[in-house]
Amino acid sequence: MKERRIRVGDVSLREYQLNTVVVGTGAAGYNCADRLYSYGQKDIAIVTEGINRGTSRNTGSDKQTYYKLTLSGNDSDSVREMAQTLFEGQCVDGDIALCEAALSVQGFLHLVELGVPFPRNRWGEYIGYKTDHDPRRRATSVGPYTSRMMTECLQKSVESKDIPVFDGFLAVAILSDGETCGGLLCLDCKNAENPEDRYVAFKCKNVVWATGGPAGMYRDSVYPLGHLGATGTAFAAGARGKNLTEWQYGLASVRPRWNVSGTYMQVLPRFISTESDGSDEREFLNDFFSDKGQLLTNVFLKGYQWPFDVRKVEKGSSIIDILVYLEQKKGRKVYLDFRTNPCCEEAGPSGGELDFCLLSEEACDYLNRAGACFGTPIERLRHMNQPAVDFYLDKGVDLSREPLEIALCAQHNNGGLAIDAWWQTNVKGLFAAGEAAASHGVYRPGGSALNAGQVGSTRAAQYIAARRQGDADEIVYENSLKKTLQECRQLEAPAEANSAYNIQRLWDEAAMDMSTFGAAIRSCQGIQGLLQRVRQRRTELPETARIASPSQLPQLFRLRDMLLCQQVYLEAMLNYLTEGGDSRGSALYTNPAGIHPHGQLPEEFTYRLEQEGGSGRIQEVLWNGQDCEFFWRSPRPIPEDDDFFENVWREYRQTGNVY
Ligand SMILES: Cc1cc2nc3c(=O)[nH]c(=O)nc-3n(C[C@H](O)[C@H](O)[C@H](O)COP(=O)(O)OP(=O)(O)OC[C@H]3O[C@@H](n4cnc5c(N)ncnc54)[C@H](O)[C@@H]3O)c2cc1C
Repeated sequence: MKERRIRVGDVSLREYQLNTVVVGTGAAGYNCADRLYSYGQKDIAIVTEGINRGTSRNTGSDKQTYYKLTLSGNDSDSVREMAQTLFEGQCVDGDIALCEAALSVQGFLHLVELGVPFPRNRWGEYIGYKTDHDPRRRATSVGPYTSRMMTECLQKSVESKDIPVFDGFLAVAILSDGETCGGLLCLDCKNAENPEDRYVAFKCKNVVWATGGPAGMYRDSVYPLGHLGATGTAFAAGARGKNLTEWQYGLASVRPRWNVSGTYMQVLPRFISTESDGSDEREFLNDFFSDKGQLLTNVFLKGYQWPFDVRKVEKGSSIIDILVYLEQKKGRKVYLDFRTNPCCEEAGPSGGELDFCLLSEEACDYLNRAGACFGTPIERLRHMNQPAVDFYLDKGVDLSREPLEIALCAQHNNGGLAIDAWWQTNVKGLFAAGEAAASHGVYRPGGSALNAGQVGSTRAAQYIAARRQGDADEIVYENSLKKTLQECRQLEAPAEANSAYNIQRLWDEAAMDMSTFGAAIRSCQGIQGLLQRVRQRRTELPETARIASPSQLPQLFRLRDMLLCQQVYLEAMLNYLTEGGDSRGSALYTNPAGIHPHGQLPEEFTYRLEQEGGSGRIQEVLWNGQDCEFFWRSPRPIPEDDDFFENVWREYRQTGNVY
């Protein structure tokens, strides 16, 4: 890596010249750098807005899952079969599914070798369990913090190789002409006050975008606080989006951000709501369910049917997500209360006994077998899962004393940046890995996100090491740097001219709107209305944004990224509807020609389910600087099997055949 100082117009800045920059220190980014080095490409660096930030390091769940090929027992499994499972998630490209299956063992064992304590028996079998959308027992876990342990082990490996890490650097632009990537422009956040040191350019042939999911778009989110993603910046560089409409939403506590799945629901807490000032407490599920048994059974089922699934609205537990969403939409706060039993209002404020016979046979049986048909929700939770109580205690929330605020939250983006089978985007030299990349479709097996992150970052590293050595394209780099710096100056100069900081307010308004109109419940009218506001907010940003000092420039650039991201995602949702798209996955689209499954719900809950298997077409979108262009295509099939060893071996010996 070479360093020098350059001048572009009136801006003086540092420049680093190297082969590849990886952006992000999550599980995907660290793995990519680690692999690049091992594969021989050592002229690399990592750029991150914060080493300790991101989803991988700061999130978890009851039993955070990693999905891989079966490595135990006598269950039959194969690479092709796992690829088929992934492919069946709908709108998934077959070549990507095949790679994710084929490299899953390599990715998993790499983590094992680096010290991630995935459980195995005394004979070395990595025993698995069944997760959602999984026909086998391919899932494993090291507990609530699987992704954190992965990240820490990968970080150690990167540090042992002395790979340079630029910490506190916000990537604000990918330097590209829309076809080829020539580098990266960053804001050095610690030096933002100093115009000479504010910007840093990386002149490089490859950029790996491992910036995580675009979480900042939503107010109601279970992504870790401070994780925002940067997909808008990649759209601005000409990278296509794919399957942007496909997300996972589910119920989560808001302080701390944590999925309230599993036992939190199986112990049957009360769902209460209040006005924003805490007045008028009501057990709101009672307004909807006339049958207490049905209410309790649906709450119980939510435990293991965690993501909102539109197929489970009419006769399933996803009605609970909707009822929570409706309370929130009225401006009320929603809580889980573990102190007293649900459906016992007549017994007074200290609550009453729960009649477990009201539950479905399955739920009653389960609680019976767990020895948990007694007491209050908190007593049952302590009995069944004390660590679940301790988790909140550690974060300062005592569930035996106070209710827990929840919301219907964004958790994972199945779509993202479109990639080929080497995780390269349509912009040559720009790769995407981890949640920033679109490798999943409508549904995906639980745990497959972490596998995809390891596989994708390995594939990108393999390709870069083999096929993309050398320096950046001079012309692309220079032209793009000049233009980008001008744009940055145009954004920062007016914002700095006024001292009344307003970025947080602009952010909060935009994120709240997105949670209301562009999350699990979507309507054409709602999306159109919001799109109009987002377009305006984005184009007027240079006039409306105000910062008190240059140290707040990172927030301004973040907001610019987020608004473009919102616009492209909303345009994708609108286009999906225009093309006749129906409700599927974690999204309910209002459709007056559909069914209205529950008379008590407002008209916006009239919807039509996508037919079994759906149209199967993949939506891709390109931001051309002014508008979105859409492309619809069939998924690429799973490549044909070529299993004759001598042929593969001969071809493999001839260098480069696999690339
Ligand atoms: C509550 C919850 C539970 C989950 N449970 C599971 C599970 O059980 N199984 C599973 O497979 N998946 C699960 N996921 C999803 C999975 O954790 C994530 O998809 C994965 O960790 C993302 O990893 P990543 O490396 O792509 O991104 P991240 O870990 O988010 O890292 C992104 C990095 O990029 C940096 N960055 C972002 N923008 C910029 C920028 N402009 N400039 C510089 N740096 C930048 C960030 O600081 C960060 O270092 C869960 C997610 C959540 C929220």
